[in-house]
Amino acid sequence: MENPREKRSSIFVDVLLLTAIFAILFSIIFFTLIDKRFTFAEPQNEIGITNISPSSETTESESTFPGVKIITDISNDPFIPFAIQYPLTLHELFNNQIEAYIEIEKNEYISQMNEKGKFNNEQVGELNISFETYSYIDAYYSFILTRTLSIPGEETIQTVNTYFLNNKTGDLLTIRDVLSNNDDSLQTFSAQLQALMQDHESFAMIDSDQINIMAAPSWKNYECFSISEDNLTLFMHPIEDALAAQPLTIKVSLSSINTLLKEEFQIQMEDEMQVIVDPNSGSGKRIALTFDDGPHPDVTPQILAILEKYNAKATFFMLGSRVQYYPDIARDVFKGGHEIGNHTWNHPVLTKMSKAQILKEYTTTEQAIVKAIGTNSTIFRPPYGASNSLVKSTIDSPQINWSIDTLDWKFQSAPKLLPAIKNTLHNNAIILMHDIHLSTADGLEDVLQYLRGEGFEFVTVSEILNDKE
Ligand code: ZN
Repeated sequence: MENPREKRSSIFVDVLLLTAIFAILFSIIFFTLIDKRFTFAEPQNEIGITNISPSSETTESESTFPGVKIITDISNDPFIPFAIQYPLTLHELFNNQIEAYIEIEKNEYISQMNEKGKFNNEQVGELNISFETYSYIDAYYSFILTRTLSIPGEETIQTVNTYFLNNKTGDLLTIRDVLSNNDDSLQTFSAQLQALMQDHESFAMIDSDQINIMAAPSWKNYECFSISEDNLTLFMHPIEDALAAQPLTIKVSLSSINTLLKEEFQIQMEDEMQVIVDPNSGSGKRIALTFDDGPHPDVTPQILAILEKYNAKATFFMLGSRVQYYPDIARDVFKGGHEIGNHTWNHPVLTKMSKAQILKEYTTTEQAIVKAIGTNSTIFRPPYGASNSLVKSTIDSPQINWSIDTLDWKFQSAPKLLPAIKNTLHNNAIILMHDIHLSTADGLEDVLQYLRGEGFEFVTVSEILNDKE
C-alpha cells in the first residue's frame, strides 16, 4: 500500500521540520543571550551585583481615609538615606502597581548611590517619596506621590506620579476614563487648558509656544492628574529641561468642563425642558437656534457658514474666557446678524457663588464682548441653566434657558442632532446646542433643511421674546 515516493518525501519533510525546530530553538537561545547581554550592559544591573543595600525599616499605620493605610520605609544608612511613604489600600492590583513603582525608584537610587560610592564614600544623597490623598464623591481617591531625588553632583529632581482609584471597585482610572474618550472632547479640553495656562501665573515664565505644546491635544499630556473638591488638577512637566524642573500644576474647575466629562463625573442639573414661550403666540412659525460655550476657532465658522446658506439668524451664548482668545470669531458672529449672549466668563455653577462672584463672571464677560464687537450683549444664559433669585437679581439682563435640549454634548453624533429636535418640536422653540463640538456643526445642515421644509423661520431669542403677541 505504501508508496516509496511518499515515504521518501515524508522523510524529507521530517528533516525539514527538524531543521526548522532547531533553527527556532537556536534563535530563541541566541536572542535570549543577546537580550541578557544588553540587560547586563545596563548600569544598574552591572552595579547591582555589588550593590550595598541599606537596611531599612518598614512600618504600617492608619490614615484618616477609610481603607487607606500608610506604608513608611526609612533607611538611616548615613550614605544611602531615604524616606519613602506610599498608600496601601484594600485593592491588590493597585497595591501591586504602586509597590512596583516604589521598588523601581528605590533600586534605581541605591544603584546610583553605590556607583557614586566607588569614588567617594563621603557623598550623601537623598530619596524622598511622600504622598497626599484626596477623596472625591465618596468613591474615588486621588493619590499624588511626589519624589525628590538628589544624587551627589547632580541637580535635585522632583517628579510627581498620580493614581486615581475607584475605591469601591479597585479600578485605576486614567484621564480617558474621566473625560469623554473621543477626539472632540480632547480638542476642546486642550483649547480650554491652553487658554487657562496662558493666564496662569505659574506658567508666566513659560512662553506661549511651549504652553501650547505642553497642553497639546494628546491624552499623554494629561495623564498626571488628581480630582478634589470641584477641580481637576493636572501636573505638567515643562518640555525643556524636563528632569530638572518641578512639575507645574493647573486647576481646571469641573463645572467649566462639565460637558466634556463622562456622565459619572458630571454635575447633574435640573431638567430644564419646558416651554418658555407659548407655542401659539407671535406671528408665524419660528425657531430660535442657540449655540453655547463658544466661540470655537473651527466649529463656530462652520456653523456661521451653514446659517448664512439658509439665511438663518441664531443666538450665540459666549464665554468671556473664550471671547478673549477669539475676538475675531465673536466679531464674525455679530457681523452675520446673529444675537450675542453672555454665558459667564468660566462656566461656573452660579447658584453656588456669592453676589460679588456672580457679578464678576458677568461683567468680565461683558468687557470681553464689548472689546470684541463694540457693543454689549443683549441677553444672558446661566451655565447649566442653573439660576436662583440671587442670580436673577444680580444680573440685569434678560435671562433665558431653552425649551428643547439636543444633548449634542452627550451624543456628539451628527445624525442624532435632528431626531433630538424632531422629538419635542414646537413653535417658538428655543433649541440648545453647543458650538464647540464639530458633530453639532456637521449635523446642523440636516436640522435647517428639515425645519425650513416645515415652514419655520429662524430668528434670534430676543425676537421671540419681544413678539409674544
Ligand atoms: Zn454652557
